[in-house]
Amino acid sequence: MEQAAAGHLASLGGETMGTRWSVRLSARPGADLHALHVTIQQALDQVVAQMSTWDPGSDISRYRNAPAGSWLRLPREFACVLDCAIEVARRSDGAFDPTLGPLVDLWGFGSAGTPRRVPALDAIDDARARSGWSRLQRRDGGRELLQPGGLQLDLSAIAKGFGADLVATHLRGRGIEAALVEVGGEIRGYGRKADGEPWRVLVESAAEEDASVDELPPRVLCLDDAAVATSGDRWHRFEQDGRRYAHTIDPRTGVPVSDAAASVTVVAADAMHADAWATALTVMGASAGLEFARTHGLAARFVVRAGARLRESMTDAFQSHLAA
Ligand code: AMP
Ligand code: MG
Repeated sequence: MEQAAAGHLASLGGETMGTRWSVRLSARPGADLHALHVTIQQALDQVVAQMSTWDPGSDISRYRNAPAGSWLRLPREFACVLDCAIEVARRSDGAFDPTLGPLVDLWGFGSAGTPRRVPALDAIDDARARSGWSRLQRRDGGRELLQPGGLQLDLSAIAKGFGADLVATHLRGRGIEAALVEVGGEIRGYGRKADGEPWRVLVESAAEEDASVDELPPRVLCLDDAAVATSGDRWHRFEQDGRRYAHTIDPRTGVPVSDAAASVTVVAADAMHADAWATALTVMGASAGLEFARTHGLAARFVVRAGARLRESMTDAFQSHLAA
């Protein structure tokens, strides 16, 4: 059985949500890392069983298939994620929208297996008519959700962050004093390492595969009981007729955000909020998004393409998290 040595920084990892998770933790001597690994995987499996649109038996898939007029009882974790999704939808004036499932599928970024190409205009109109977070109706303190007919949730923009928070809470509960948890690039850190230092993480600089694009200077964040999430189009996108279509959809048009930032990074108290806000700010775009982040005190950094170069801009709140 894998056991930790004194003051040991242990690493664990595995697969979840179509990507990887990893945990670095400051382990007590003799800590049973194998048992921790199993329970971390179980916690993430639970998120998948509730919120994965790729799993036909998940709660989110059952909601999608539920008859119009039926109320679905949500598991506690699902209800918590939906609470945050609705909060960010409201505060971002709908830039973030957890009901974009039909549009995500239509553009080929969902579980439906639709090819990635520009769909017909009437298909976009049809999918838009079936979306809209204001159609969400809940009761019993948010634990029951109405299926009004044709509503389809997509929590992909927030579930990875939630997964990182859930694992962090789980590890704290098992007496782990410090850990850095990552799920598909969304990161939550708590506690201090044995040397008394907070966790440090390198922020993605969104360098292109194209070597002609200049690298940005490396940015290192201190995560002292904080979280960081990044939205970007590096992996999830396609090109058609010389235009780039990324997987972040503007709910106002039903079309992927045009001229999307190469990456948007947000630091927040928890990874769920950081994840949701990174997506919301991507929809707003670099100029309106930066202005919004400044007036709402969000710690955000935008990396945009400017010809063959990348340009970064950040709020003061983000700057204050950078390592000296
Ligand atoms: P992220 O990488 O966290 O920005 O999440 C992107 C994913 O969120 C996409 O692949 C879609 O499944 C979903 N999505 C796309 N546009 C939006 C939006 N405007 N609001 C919420 N979720 C979205
Ligand atoms: Mg996100």
